[in-house]
Amino acid sequence: MSATLGTLLHELQPDWKIVAFERQGEVATESSNAWNNAGTGHAALCELNYMPNDQDPSKAVLINEQFQQSRQLWTSLVAKGVLDGPSTFINATPHMTFVRGEKDVAYLKRRYETLSKQPLFAGIEYSEDSRVINQWAPLLMQKRLKSDEPFAATRTPSGTDVDFGALTRQLFGHLTAEGANLRLNHEVKNLKREKDGTWLVTYRDKVGQTPGQVRAKFVFVGAGGWAIKLLQKSGIKEIKGYGVFPIGGQFLKTTNPTLVAQHKAKVYSQAAVGAPPMSVPHLDARMVEGEGSLMFGPFATFSPKFLKKGSLLDIVSQVRAHNLGSMLKVGATNLDLVKYLVSELLKSRSRKLDSLREFMPTAKDEDWELIQAGQRAQVMKGGKLQFGTEVVSSADGSIAGLLGASPGASTAATIMLDVLKRCFADKTAEWEPKLRELIPTFGETLNDDPAKTAASTRATAEALSITA
Ligand SMILES: Cc1cc2nc3c(=O)[nH]c(=O)nc-3n(C[C@H](O)[C@H](O)[C@H](O)COP(=O)(O)OP(=O)(O)OC[C@H]3O[C@@H](n4cnc5c(N)ncnc54)[C@H](O)[C@@H]3O)c2cc1C
Repeated sequence: MSATLGTLLHELQPDWKIVAFERQGEVATESSNAWNNAGTGHAALCELNYMPNDQDPSKAVLINEQFQQSRQLWTSLVAKGVLDGPSTFINATPHMTFVRGEKDVAYLKRRYETLSKQPLFAGIEYSEDSRVINQWAPLLMQKRLKSDEPFAATRTPSGTDVDFGALTRQLFGHLTAEGANLRLNHEVKNLKREKDGTWLVTYRDKVGQTPGQVRAKFVFVGAGGWAIKLLQKSGIKEIKGYGVFPIGGQFLKTTNPTLVAQHKAKVYSQAAVGAPPMSVPHLDARMVEGEGSLMFGPFATFSPKFLKKGSLLDIVSQVRAHNLGSMLKVGATNLDLVKYLVSELLKSRSRKLDSLREFMPTAKDEDWELIQAGQRAQVMKGGKLQFGTEVVSSADGSIAGLLGASPGASTAATIMLDVLKRCFADKTAEWEPKLRELIPTFGETLNDDPAKTAASTRATAEALSITA
């Protein structure tokens, strides 16, 4: 998120000085690291939680529109040489949904009928035929018992797998080459508004243990799960009432070349009762640093930390008088989630493999290893647990931060355009031509114009080498 915002700001105002602080020795070791997230280019092609009502495609269309903005930005940045060859961070990977049982099959069919009329979902296919599904994803069908239970799948060939860690490293590589100051091993400790409206940023060099301070006219708190802590320290009233609830995750991973060669898709399914939307199980083809692998999960885990390398005190240190009531209400009204988390926590490795075998009946224990994914700090506000991302900014636009995790990295371009709009409203007109250069359909939507949709998706697919 910070890499995306820094890149946009540098393109718009090359004369502005950018300083970025990273508490680790390198960038992208938390949620944006390839092994800490699922690498799905979220465009709502296969994730059922983005379209709970099979007649209403509005949320799915919105997320797809947002992903198109990311694709357009990446296309421009590849052309400018800011990003390396596209295969280093994005690869064509069809997105599928696979469901079982009469109710879910009926839902998937109606969802397909609704989405196939939307220009952004052109090319979506539906099948209940095991031979067709076998061609799309053989691992789903091999040794699947012929039971009375019906199953069905959809497939959209234009889906993608994205290495958000590689993207982050490349964006910061370019920013630093252009003069931005990236201070690794530097942890921001405090944010204080000065009388003149600037921000005093206090940090600690984690290697030399030396403290230091810088002044900034604008601060973006892109600290992932720790954003809430720094926004609370800033004292802005807009952060009042917010809390976050951390949910960890694990994936089963294999690099067995025979399996990798047989599965070239991301296959999402239906969530279990009470499961948070991002815990929908999926079997994913991944491409990271030129090596193919498969991942299955995520399985929810619990840790009180807001970052993978966070603090055990994170969950209690956020409690304030203004958010305690909301957090207690979340606990009392999400009993299904609590039950789900407990059942996930009690799942042994062999039960996790049983879950995988519901997708891939031939899965063998010895091929799969469990890896720990990133932490998601889900937003709690007004007594409700939310699963989206939320930008929190001060009324004067001098500080903004990002809370939450989904659809996340895939929609970074749109989220950071929102930050620009909120915090630099007086620059909007001046910046518009440059933003249109970077994102040709900036300020427009695609889905209401089939010809424009086809032209844009074809152009970015060709430029990013992700043609279906
Ligand atoms: C299990 C899982 C699966 C996911 N799957 C997907 C997916 O398939 N597709 C998708 O688009 N998104 C996915 N996401 C969401 C996505 O990973 C996040 O939305 C995105 O990576 C967040 O980026 P960020 O820059 O905000 O945070 P991060 O990548 O976490 O970066 C925050 C950085 O700030 C640093 N930092 C924190 N505090 C300080 C401080 N005080 N001082 C200095 N540095 C600090 C951290 O060390 C870290 O490097 C997933 C997330 C998880 C956890």
